[in-house]
Amino acid sequence: MIQLIQNHLSESKETKENTKVRGFIPVPGTSVEMPFTFIQGAKPGKAILITAGVHGGEYPCIETAIQLAKEIDPAEVSGTILIIHPVNPAAFLARMQYYGPFDGKNLNRVFPGKATGTVSERIAYEVHQFQQAADFYLDLHGGDIHEGLVPFVIYSKLGNKEQVEHSRLASALLGFPYVVGSVSENGSIGAAAKAGTPGFLAELGQCGRWSVSEVNEYKSAVLNVLRSLHVISGEVIHSKVEFLDKMLVTTATADGCWYPAVQLEQKVKIGEKLGEVRDYFGNVKEEYLSESDGVVLYLVTSLAITSNDPLAAVGVSVT
Ligand SMILES: [Zn+2]
Repeated sequence: MIQLIQNHLSESKETKENTKVRGFIPVPGTSVEMPFTFIQGAKPGKAILITAGVHGGEYPCIETAIQLAKEIDPAEVSGTILIIHPVNPAAFLARMQYYGPFDGKNLNRVFPGKATGTVSERIAYEVHQFQQAADFYLDLHGGDIHEGLVPFVIYSKLGNKEQVEHSRLASALLGFPYVVGSVSENGSIGAAAKAGTPGFLAELGQCGRWSVSEVNEYKSAVLNVLRSLHVISGEVIHSKVEFLDKMLVTTATADGCWYPAVQLEQKVKIGEKLGEVRDYFGNVKEEYLSESDGVVLYLVTSLAITSNDPLAAVGVSVT
């Protein structure tokens, strides 16, 4: 990790113990430069990667990463922490949901990326180099500009048993109400897990807004995980969370207007209506039913919906 960072620093800057360096990581072959803060602790320890703003419209996590980068004191760190804040500055400035402004791709669907691919694929490739060099990876997200959610955490079920269990238990230490497993390979944490790096993807905040209280909650949660990894010292707080087996995402099959029939955190039964898409004349085009018993973790809040985009996600209990 230290060597990877050193490659991006000018000769005047050098990483050394008990320092913090800031700069931009250029993504080769693109105009993208990812702002980063690299904290090299006073003592040795684990290499941690924190990313925020893989999706540019998820504000609480981006502000959380910016504040953590500023506030964490290297003197109190054992190991190293690389924070990228945000990963996708162009999508952030364009106030875009899901997609980057360059290639219409969802960055969190193209990991581990390609060195010679489209802009999103190249960003993913660059981030993946750091994922591989990290001992633990925290990818901070939230509900997008048009999404509401109850805070939850996704961990990857890929990798060996010990790694998966490490990710699952660390996820719970954020203290968010739900922790859910995933077998996705093309998302950030899936690619990291396949490369042997445990971690999680956290979701807090929603609907294109952010508040000081959300950021404070997010920061406390991340610091609790860093304590559990012995990167900073202090007592680890254990909260009661509900572990879920998987998340079933219902996607739209038609363009039009979206009318949810459920609310966030509502317990639903298999076959229960999640909502419907109507045309501009109010006629129902499609109805969407829950494929399982479970709890509604997120819901699209915009009236507008386009085919193939998510509508809602139901977290399913371990059976
Ligand atoms: Zn996201």
